[in-house]
Amino acid sequence: MASEDPGVAVVGLGNMGLGMAATLLGKDFAVAGYDLSAERCALARAAGVTIVPDLPTLARGAAILVLSLPLARDVAATVEGADGLLAHASPGSVIIDTSTSEVATSRRLAALCAARSIGFLDAPVSGGPAGARAGTLAIMIGGDTGHVAMARTVLDAMGTTVLHVGPSGAGNVAKLVNNLLVASHLLTMSEAMRLSEAAGVPAADVLKVVNAASGRSAVSEVNYPRWIESGRFDSGFTMGLMRKDVGLAAALAAQVGANLPMSELAAKLWRESAAGLADGEDFNRITALPAVRGTRP
Ligand code: NAD
Repeated sequence: MASEDPGVAVVGLGNMGLGMAATLLGKDFAVAGYDLSAERCALARAAGVTIVPDLPTLARGAAILVLSLPLARDVAATVEGADGLLAHASPGSVIIDTSTSEVATSRRLAALCAARSIGFLDAPVSGGPAGARAGTLAIMIGGDTGHVAMARTVLDAMGTTVLHVGPSGAGNVAKLVNNLLVASHLLTMSEAMRLSEAAGVPAADVLKVVNAASGRSAVSEVNYPRWIESGRFDSGFTMGLMRKDVGLAAALAAQVGANLPMSELAAKLWRESAAGLADGEDFNRITALPAVRGTRP
């Protein structure tokens, strides 16, 4: 790949972005990076990323620009802000926004970029920091087929499952639906485990059954053994980010007039969790929150 390497840039070198940058470096891409945090820049530099001082420099040096930013407003500022990518990226370049972001923001930015012959893909990911580091992410994409083709080598390097879901915004819809399910499954699994204990059967024993039967999910198969039962709570995905995702899913449901009574309750519990669990806590901690666990066993 290196001989035809168009230059890849990563904006946002956090838990996910640095992992993706390291994966791309490992596959012989030349990778430049930018982050507001000096600490993250230092870590990325140590991993071999060429850190640049500003977005214009980054934009001018890369044909593929990968974003991994906390919020839709960070994505908007990076793309259309003064001295952002829109003003400085070359026509023919493609922005791959892997952030979990808003449908409307992605569609607006894609239209602005298209007017300058720049591609913009909403391409949120699943698989966590471990998947980012291993290059095994699931990537769900909204955008133009031609832009997906132009970004293909980079997408394939970062993920093992690359799904072009539909036009602009479709990747965000898929990701919000997925994370609404994960957020809900954490609540229902926590209740199911409490029911087992209250009925006199150890939760760990019932978990084995669930994982061999039809009640299983990624939460029962991965989250419970890896991060919850082990007491590690070190998934690399925070309460703050999951609260954001659940809030975005609830906002999307309101926008499109979808009636989702169970999801509304899940969204309420996640919203209220802010009183007991700080943004930086691991998102699996929701299962231990007293308001979720209730006062009975
Ligand atoms: P993070 O907070 O670890 O990293 C975000 C990075 O962006 C930070 O280093 C921060 O300094 C930087 N940043 C913020 N604003 C910036 C700006 N304007 N310009 C440049 N840098 C800026 O977050 P993360 O866990 O890596 O998540 C990144 C995105 O990926 C989020 O949208 C999140 O919802 C999504 N996501 C995360 C996971 C996960 O397991 N952590 C999984 C799937 C998707």
